[in-house]
Order: sequence, then C-alpha cells, then structure tokens
Amino acid sequence: MTPLDKKRRKKLQAILDKNHGYRDYHDNDVAVGKIGKYGSGVFAQRQFLPGELVIEVHGQLLSQKNYDGSSYVMEVNKDWFLEPAIPAAFLNHSCDPNCELVHLTKWTMGLVAICNIEAETQITFDYRWTAFEGVPKCQCGSPVCRGWVVAAEDVKKMERIAKRKKKKS
Ligand SMILES: [Zn+2]
Repeated sequence: MTPLDKKRRKKLQAILDKNHGYRDYHDNDVAVGKIGKYGSGVFAQRQFLPGELVIEVHGQLLSQKNYDGSSYVMEVNKDWFLEPAIPAAFLNHSCDPNCELVHLTKWTMGLVAICNIEAETQITFDYRWTAFEGVPKCQCGSPVCRGWVVAAEDVKKMERIAKRKKKKS
C-alpha cells in the first residue's frame, strides 16, 4: 500500500466528510457543529418546546461487567452501558442544561427539552458523573457552574479529591 501524502489525504478526507458525514451529522432537528478550534457540540436546527423529545440516543451496548474504558457512556441498566453514536456522542455537559436524559426504550435513551430551546442553541444535559480523580473541570460557562463535571451531590467529594491530588503533586 502506498502511504497517503498530505495533499491526497486532504482530498480524500474531503470526499469522506462529504459522502459519509462522519462528525458532520445533520438532520432537520439537530446538527453537529464546531465549538472553538477543536471542540464539537450538537445544535438545535429548529425550536424545541419543553417536554419535547430532541434526540433518541442509540449506540453500542457494552456489558458493565467487562467494561472499564472511557466514562463517556450512559447507564442503561445494571448490566449494560450505552456508548452513544453520532450525533449524541457530541453532546456536551452543562451545569445549567436545556435537556434531560431519560430512559426511552429498552435499549435507547432520550434527550428531552426541559425549557424552550431556540434554533441554533447548543443542546446540553447534565452528565451527573460521580466524583473520581479523572473528572475534568467544567467549562460550561454558566453562572451556576459547579466547577466540575460531576453531579450536584458529588461536588464536595470532588473538591476533596482535587485537594488531595494537589497536595500529592
Ligand atoms: Zn459547569
């Protein structure tokens, strides 16, 4: 196989992006868009009213027993995690979200609007992670930001973990 040179790679990548829409999901309701230089997010393409289903989250099912990969999975039940497919894979956390994650069918989750969402607004939900050492600082920018991407009841615990880590280093 001949290695791809830069020019050819760029050309072929453009074809891939155009034809297969990888990381460029778009339908009448939502679209994946860029945030800053490296980030991505999901944006409403129309208005959603409170209580309205915004996205059905499909994905790969991973058994809880054998899984110890990224924490970016959703808990479906005590045996299974769901690794969200595109576009839901690009949903960002917010401490002041406009959507809530709910169980929808046996193997899918749903994102439901909890307030009025205008077109072009970024769709967010509260990840509600439990506190552990690798939790990133939150950058949602909301005035009620909790500082960490953890559930409200885990903020104190997360602060203790961060303090301990600081002392160690
Ligand atoms: Zn935040």
